[in-house]
Amino acid sequence: MSFQNPVFIPGPTNIPEVLRRACDMPTMDHRSAHFADILQPALSGVKKVLKTQTGQVFLFPSTGSGGWETALTNTLSAGDKVLACNNGMFSQKWIDMCERHGLDVEAISVPWGQGIPTNRYAEILAADKDHRIKVVLATHNETATGVVSDIAAVRAAMDASNHPAMLFVDGVSSIGSMDFRMDEWGVDVAVTGSQKGFMMPVGLAITAFSPKAIAALESATLPRWYFDVRDMQAGYKVNGYPYTPQVGLLNGLKVSCEMLLDEGLDNVFARHARIAQGVRNAIAAWDMELCAVSPEVYSNSVSAILTPQGFNATELVTHASVKYGLSFGGGLGQVEGKLFRIGHLGSLTDVMALSGIATAEMCMVDLGLKVKLGSGVAAAQDFYRSTAAEKQQVAA
Ligand SMILES: *Cc1c(COP(=O)(O)O)cnc(C)c1O
Repeated sequence: MSFQNPVFIPGPTNIPEVLRRACDMPTMDHRSAHFADILQPALSGVKKVLKTQTGQVFLFPSTGSGGWETALTNTLSAGDKVLACNNGMFSQKWIDMCERHGLDVEAISVPWGQGIPTNRYAEILAADKDHRIKVVLATHNETATGVVSDIAAVRAAMDASNHPAMLFVDGVSSIGSMDFRMDEWGVDVAVTGSQKGFMMPVGLAITAFSPKAIAALESATLPRWYFDVRDMQAGYKVNGYPYTPQVGLLNGLKVSCEMLLDEGLDNVFARHARIAQGVRNAIAAWDMELCAVSPEVYSNSVSAILTPQGFNATELVTHASVKYGLSFGGGLGQVEGKLFRIGHLGSLTDVMALSGIATAEMCMVDLGLKVKLGSGVAAAQDFYRSTAAEKQQVAA
């Protein structure tokens, strides 16, 4: 373990110095007037990052998983029907959470590596004539497999049958690194956490509710207290919280939004796309394949790399950590041992990405895989050289 090396896990991500300082605050009375200068810009900054005018943002001391629970418990009642797709560990966990809350989940399973089958969603929604389905779940970027799904297409599938269900999107590993359009895509609840695209320490569940989701608050009867957004709404009206907020993290979030918006969201997405393409070129040079089955589902925030049969990919992750002090992600659930993941989201530059690619290469050679040292690095170098922006934003 080294604190000098960047991490290449798909969250928590590298924290820029500026954000570490922003989070590191002396104790501040959250009931003092000054708290509004932190809270309000954090809320409005998140709205801009989510591209929503009409959504209401709620920030809980929690993590992305707490955001899932916020979405479900505030809008649904036991027995309500939910349509979901299991295409990786995170979408699977959200389904598990629904089941433990007594929701009636219709979960489509697809082989991990595929995106959400929007045609299946369309068929199921069209067949649901009496509108029993209350919510459609979609994991925008399945972090376990490096697969991005088309949220606009999910919305189109819903609209095609004029289905009134709400659309809840897990954007934990996409928001702040890949394009996300809450209003345009008709997202009713968007969920993320502080430690991925926002480049912050872990500790905040970041959610936004559409007017339709807000309207569901009163009829929903699932038990909730800590995550009740009605209490949060009441608090925000007077610039306060229903309990003690993490003032430092909220200040960090305010600054994080400023950083993302200063760089320009389109530039942030383009930077992630470039870095990801360099990583993918390296993977191709190693003659390896992604878990993601086709280019339209390739994630720009994480690449999950299948290793040859008979090789335990978890060993590579352990070796990288022990020998080189660098972290990659391992395989989760049914892909454990079969793949390793290079996280490339958040505060990352070409130069940092090259160090991760080089280290993965050293590990593969150390462990006897048929990979030539420098092959992936060269492929990424070629790509970065030929596409480097005039002025690279150095977030770190
Ligand atoms: C990280 C992640 C989560 C879980 O977030 P926590 O902050 O660990 O609770 C959920 N969904 C996706 C897609 C993720 O990448």
